[in-house]
Amino acid sequence: MNEKISLFDTHAHYVDDAFDADRHELLSRLFNSGEICGIVEAGTNAETSRLAASLAEQYDNIWFAAGFHPSDITENLSNLDEIVPLLSHPKCAAIGEIGLDYHYDDGPPREQQLLWLDAQLSLAKQYGLPVIIHCRDAHSDTMDILRAHKDVRCVLHSYSGSAELLREHVKFDRFISFSGVITFKNAKKTLDCVRAVPDGQILIETDCPYLTPHPHRGKRNDTGYLRLTAEAAAELRGVSLEDFASLTVQNSKRFFGIRQ
Ligand SMILES: [Zn+2]
Repeated sequence: MNEKISLFDTHAHYVDDAFDADRHELLSRLFNSGEICGIVEAGTNAETSRLAASLAEQYDNIWFAAGFHPSDITENLSNLDEIVPLLSHPKCAAIGEIGLDYHYDDGPPREQQLLWLDAQLSLAKQYGLPVIIHCRDAHSDTMDILRAHKDVRCVLHSYSGSAELLREHVKFDRFISFSGVITFKNAKKTLDCVRAVPDGQILIETDCPYLTPHPHRGKRNDTGYLRLTAEAAAELRGVSLEDFASLTVQNSKRFFGIRQ
């Protein structure tokens, strides 16, 4: 039942306060288990991007992404310069997480979000880095802006769009990453998407401490629960857990340009 597998978590937030009490103990335990071969720690602003870089310096198998999450952007676009020094760090694997979030009425104005996303996509091209896209209730604007930057390699993280939009994304060689949401009972729409992604473009992630897979929903998430997401995806795609695990590890390394 408990096959020996290796998994790559393409999106985590271990610098979050939720891990203050046991961050290093937890990460050491995860890597010592042999089940986790890589984690990408995603920044959300200048401060968490710097912390992400420092975490990546402490662990061989942690890489990081630097960027401003749409909820963390400021009125002054020149604040973006604060992450620029991180982009040439040897363990910087991507710009992220960046994107559009129209879910909250009191969030940053849409025009401002679009301006920041556009600027961060241009930086990605300049530095030859892929991007990690956060998209919530903003699917059509996301599609348009990505089309305008079609030479930037990108992953739609914790994908929540329709299967129809998904086909459009994969046509443009975008990667699709699934989180613990695919283990939730009310995720029918997303389950069709798990089946629809071509083998070479699928990734998995925790987005920890959020989105803990069923049956641990409500608890703090960590990469130890990633196996539950991998099992659900493998079953939906009709492949073995071992094959799905090795496929997604290869895809992760190829996407982030990791040679290890
Ligand atoms: Zn995230």
